[in-house]
Amino acid sequence: MRDSRDPLAAWRIATEPYYRPVGDEPRRYELAYGRRLPLILSGPTGCGKTRFVEHMAWRLGVPLITVACNEDMTASDLVGRHLLDAGGTVWHDGPLTLAVRHGAIRYLDEVVEARQDTTVVIHPLTDGRRLLPLDKKGEQLAAHPDFQLVVSYNPGYQSAAKDMKPSTRQRFGSMAFDYPPPATEAEIVAHEAGIVLPLAEQLVAIAGRTRALRGHGLEEGASTRLLIHAGCLMRDGLDARASCEMTLTGSLTDDPDVLRVLHDCIDATF
Ligand code: ADP
Repeated sequence: MRDSRDPLAAWRIATEPYYRPVGDEPRRYELAYGRRLPLILSGPTGCGKTRFVEHMAWRLGVPLITVACNEDMTASDLVGRHLLDAGGTVWHDGPLTLAVRHGAIRYLDEVVEARQDTTVVIHPLTDGRRLLPLDKKGEQLAAHPDFQLVVSYNPGYQSAAKDMKPSTRQRFGSMAFDYPPPATEAEIVAHEAGIVLPLAEQLVAIAGRTRALRGHGLEEGASTRLLIHAGCLMRDGLDARASCEMTLTGSLTDDPDVLRVLHDCIDATF
């Protein structure tokens, strides 16, 4: 049951999400939030964008409402709709409206996966008006002072048709993310998977090889997330080769030639 005194209680982050800064991105985010600047976090999948927003929302003490975008998502899924209940037809705020009305950071993960009509509803929120038009309700909702819109975007593998339109993109400030430098990434993998640092360093070295194959047989290299999965399986007792097969190689490709290269790399590492 939602707390009626705090409609965003479910989205408040009580304990600090672990985030290892790579540069001065926390300070940049704090300044952007101070201006309520809408932000695009760009970078490959699984490199820490979501974790970063979670950490920043906790640090700023602002609730965070995250929605993973997909092409079936409609504007109503974001904004809300009228639903029938015992008392008749009642309006239910969607996650975007909740964040706008009560003041939260609204994180749209993989925004280019959303259909154009859904991205259009965010436009008036990203300029000086900070308004959300609730057409079906005949209401123009002014954003709460704490509201901020953040979207993530992976420029790597989208087709041109799915690229962010300049008219949308120019409404946002942007922060570019990438896989952390090897020593930092190993620290993160060791922390998250609960494995010793030398083992995490070996996983990061394999990831480096897969990332070098980007555009040469692989669409994308292994993400930090996949390395953490590999590390967790190792910690749970699976041998290194099997752990990597389950999380790194098979998740990246089915191409037998590329798989052979990756398996050789794993055998040479462990
Ligand atoms: P993205 O949103 O970019 O797809 P995530 O934020 O979900 O990726 O990152 C995947 C995982 O990698 C996280 O759950 C976290 O465990 C780890 N991670 C990546 N970068 C960092 C970092 N800088 N500090 C802490 N954890 C990180």
